[in-house]
Amino acid sequence: MYKIFNEGMIEIITGPMFSGKSEELLRRLRTLEYAKLKPLVIKPKFDTRFSEEEIVSRSGVRHKTHILSDIREVYDLLKFDTYKAIVIDEAHFFGKDLVAVADNLANLGYLVIIAGLDQDYLRRPFGPIPDLLAIAERVTKLQAICVVCQHAASTSFRKIESNQQNLLGNYHEYEARCRKCHNKGEKQKQQNVN
Ligand code: ADP
Ligand code: ZN
Repeated sequence: MYKIFNEGMIEIITGPMFSGKSEELLRRLRTLEYAKLKPLVIKPKFDTRFSEEEIVSRSGVRHKTHILSDIREVYDLLKFDTYKAIVIDEAHFFGKDLVAVADNLANLGYLVIIAGLDQDYLRRPFGPIPDLLAIAERVTKLQAICVVCQHAASTSFRKIESNQQNLLGNYHEYEARCRKCHNKGEKQKQQNVN
């Protein structure tokens, strides 16, 4: 593994749905424990798919977490304990506010580890993650397996009809696809409309 953690830095774990971002975050949490860097773990209120108060990966690993509706509430939580690290899952749902807050937290000396989607369902740069990728010290970009051709997948393809950018979902609504199969799928959708 990489030379362990520095305090006062940002790490981003990104990639499409099903690529293992939550799993990777949970692995980081285990390592933080050994490094004696006490983490504050947070998730946006928006993400209620698996559990209100836990990060749960699709493979079933879990960790207690605080639910915030606004990322700025993190400053209140920091008053209660001496945390060294701040770990954020499903970070794309916090919106652009997260960029300045994460930067500030790293400047204050916290190790900030953030997992979130880099692209929306049409492969467009999504929410705060693209800006965070630019200012982060370390970036881990994961891939899933394309459900159509089994090559490496970097996109979250939407299976149902909706133009809402922030549509929550899981296997029924989304599947991991490679660029080629994503583009093919979008073309097919268009043909079905016309
Ligand atoms: P993320 O947080 O990126 O959405 P999770 O950590 O919740 O991902 O889940 C990753 C797990 O999802 C994998 O370990 C695997 O068990 C499962 N999975 C389901 N579909 C796929 C796929 N198409 N490609 C890879 N893993 C998949
Ligand atoms: Zn494919």
